Amino acid sequence: MVQICEILGKECASTAICFGMHCVGASVIARNANEYQQERYLAPINEGRHITTLSFSEPGTGAHFYYPQSRLLPAGPDEFVLNGAKHLATNGGYADSYVVSAATVDPQSPAGGFSCVVVPADSDGFEVGPVWDGLGLRGNSSRTLTLNAVRVPRRDLLGNEGDQIWYLFNVICPTFLSAMSGTYLGVSSAVLEAACGYLKERRHSHSATSLSQISIIQHRMGELWSIVERTRRLIYFAASSFDAGQPTALTAVMAAKAEVADCVNTLVGEVMTLMGGITYRSNSKLHRSMRDARAAHLMAPTTDMLRLWIGRTVLGQPLLVD
Ligand SMILES: Cc1cc2nc3c(=O)[nH]c(=O)nc-3n(C[C@H](O)[C@H](O)[C@H](O)COP(=O)(O)OP(=O)(O)OC[C@H]3O[C@@H](n4cnc5c(N)ncnc54)[C@H](O)[C@@H]3O)c2cc1C
Repeated sequence: MVQICEILGKECASTAICFGMHCVGASVIARNANEYQQERYLAPINEGRHITTLSFSEPGTGAHFYYPQSRLLPAGPDEFVLNGAKHLATNGGYADSYVVSAATVDPQSPAGGFSCVVVPADSDGFEVGPVWDGLGLRGNSSRTLTLNAVRVPRRDLLGNEGDQIWYLFNVICPTFLSAMSGTYLGVSSAVLEAACGYLKERRHSHSATSLSQISIIQHRMGELWSIVERTRRLIYFAASSFDAGQPTALTAVMAAKAEVADCVNTLVGEVMTLMGGITYRSNSKLHRSMRDARAAHLMAPTTDMLRLWIGRTVLGQPLLVD
């Protein structure tokens, strides 16, 4: 996941995010798929005929995406009825299905009693909001979803009722955070490469020296290279720890996404300074990277939430207390 998103992110962060969210949704479906879900969703996903996504965030609870206010109430033995609203759903309007979280119990009760269901895009009562007009990631489509008395057959429940927190820490966080980390590592590497190329080429006519020959620029590029490489090491360490089932893997995966968010924003800011006025032109690739980078801190778990969770983990405190 990290490697693929890094390759995609080097060219286009939007493509990497859309692919990443498809993989997150698909991983949630795949983890405990029943026979129906295997045939209805996983078979066409494997054949590249079905796009899915994950839509947890809600306007009401924002960054606390593990507190859905959407309600999934029983409507007979084999069916639920789903009501609520989601926001910023990546692939919105393009996905064939949406993995959605909802409370099956009182939405005010402590974290833990929530469920995940798959909602096909053509379900009655399911509506996608206005076209996305984001600051960055403009090739994505992060839209609001309205769930108005959507009938959800029990066979579209993922795992058991109340399993959402299990999915959150065992499937969603590792997959999503790895996708994000790879994507923004790719953006960071591309920005660093662009800077190297430009600084070698750019020469002043009065001195004929290139910017790459100036000591302060060499020093600052040394710092930037180190930031990218230490972030890369953390990301790949976290991914391999997770693959190996290490007990501290989740903490490393969380740290990787928080660090890459800082890394990519530092990189685009510094490289804009180093490359000078030409970078201030709108519609350059660097301009696009700067806008794309801003979302790295915002996509939940946000950088602040991740650092809180890491601190709580190392101090042995419960994670979801606010
Ligand atoms: C481009 C993009 C794509 C997205 N795609 C998806 C998607 O596919 N699926 C999906 O489910 N969501 C998606 N989101 C939503 C995202 O994951 C967040 O849930 C959402 O951005 C939170 O926004 P908010 O403004 O409502 O947060 P708010 O809750 O208003 O938070 C604002 C700020 O306050 C901080 N904050 C809030 N509470 C605390 C606290 N207790 N402690 C410390 N800091 C706190 C947050 O970290 C954040 O920085 C996407 C967002 C963006 C920008």
